[in-house]
Amino acid sequence: MSETKILNCIVCPMGCEMTATIEGGTVTNVTGNTCPRGAKYAQEEITAPKRMLTSTVRITGGLLPLLPVVSKNPLPKDKVLACAEHLRTITVEAPIAEGATICENILGLGVDIVASRAMDVHAE
Ligand code: SF4
Repeated sequence: MSETKILNCIVCPMGCEMTATIEGGTVTNVTGNTCPRGAKYAQEEITAPKRMLTSTVRITGGLLPLLPVVSKNPLPKDKVLACAEHLRTITVEAPIAEGATICENILGLGVDIVASRAMDVHAE
């Protein structure tokens, strides 16, 4: 038995509304996408959804008490919360360069967490 799911492609600002046909957990057809990237997104979103993680970690000696961080690549959606909790256990020390790796291979998922901005040392 097949089912259909409506979803919006988020790959580009066009935001195409797509209809995916799913049979036995597999996407068998996608309509409404303007380009092939939409079909690929629908396939991923239905079978193994992923999300970018943006968060903060504590930083000592910096201009601000928190350092914004981001995942270098999307993470499995069902692991994003666990990754965010793990980041709460991390404290780094200023200075930090933009793009510096803050957590390598978070929770063994093969994705690094990096600083999304630089943070200088707080001048006394
Ligand atoms: S299907 Fe293609 S054109 Fe439409 S939103 Fe996705 S990437 Fe953009």
